[in-house]
Amino acid sequence: MARIPMMAGNWKMNNTIAEAVVLAQEISNHYEKEWRECVEIVLCPPAIGLKPVLTVLEFDRVRIKVAAQNVHWEEKGAFTGEISVPMIEEIGCSYSIVGHSERRGLFNETDEMVNKKVRSLVKGGLGAIVCVGESLAVRDEGRALEFVCAQVRAAFAGLEPTEAHSLLVAYEPVWAIGTGRTATPEQAEEVCAAIRATVADLFGAPVAAAMRILYGGSMNPGNAAALLAMEDIDGGLVGGASLDAKSFVQLVEACL
Ligand code: PEP
Repeated sequence: MARIPMMAGNWKMNNTIAEAVVLAQEISNHYEKEWRECVEIVLCPPAIGLKPVLTVLEFDRVRIKVAAQNVHWEEKGAFTGEISVPMIEEIGCSYSIVGHSERRGLFNETDEMVNKKVRSLVKGGLGAIVCVGESLAVRDEGRALEFVCAQVRAAFAGLEPTEAHSLLVAYEPVWAIGTGRTATPEQAEEVCAAIRATVADLFGAPVAAAMRILYGGSMNPGNAAALLAMEDIDGGLVGGASLDAKSFVQLVEACL
C-alpha cells in the first residue's frame, strides 16, 4: 500500500491570530484539487490560532488539516497553561505534534511524558506526530541510530499494533532544526529506515510498511525533492520554510 506523503508546517510560537489567518488564507488560495488524494497537508499554528485557522480552511472547503504543537496527557484538571486532547479534538484538530526537540530541550519533556501524550492522543482518537532526533554530540559518538530508535520504542511503549494506524514519526536531527544545516538525504534515509525497522519489531511488518515517517530539519524548497525521493521518507515537518505561503506551497508540490 502506497503511503500518502504528509507536509506539515510547524509554525512554532509565530503568528498572532491575525497573521495566522492571513497565512492560512494565502496557502488556501493556492490549493489545487489534484492535491486531495496525493498529499496530506497539515498546519500547526500556536494553540490560540487553531480555531481561527480551521475556520478559514473550512470556509474555503480545502482539504488541509490542523494540528496542535503540543498537548497534555490528562483530559482535564489543575494543569495551568496546558490544553488537553478533548479540547483540541473539539476544535477540530486531526493531530498533535508530540515530543518536539524544543519541548524536550527547553521544557524538560521526557520519553515517559512523550509516551503518555501519545497514549492520550490514541485514546482520544487523534493522530500523533512523534518527533525524535539526536543531538550533534550523539551523532558524533556514532550513536544516532541507537538513540533515535530508543526514543521510538519509548514513545510507543504499551501500544497495540491495532492502535498504531494514527501514529507518525518525524525524524528531526536536533543539529538540523532551525540551523540551515540539513541532513543529507542518505543520512536521513539511514535513520528513517532504522525507525521503520524498529516499528516493524514493535508492531509487525504491515504496520511499519503503512506508517509515515517524516523528515524535519531545515527542509526547504531547494532540498525537499532529494529528501522526499528517499524510500523511507514520507513527507516533511517544516518550521522556518512553512512560515511563507509560497515556500510552503512549493514543499507541498514537492510531495506530488
Ligand atoms: C521543526 O521545528 O520541526 C523544524 C524542522 O524546523 P526548521 O524547518 O526551521 O528546521
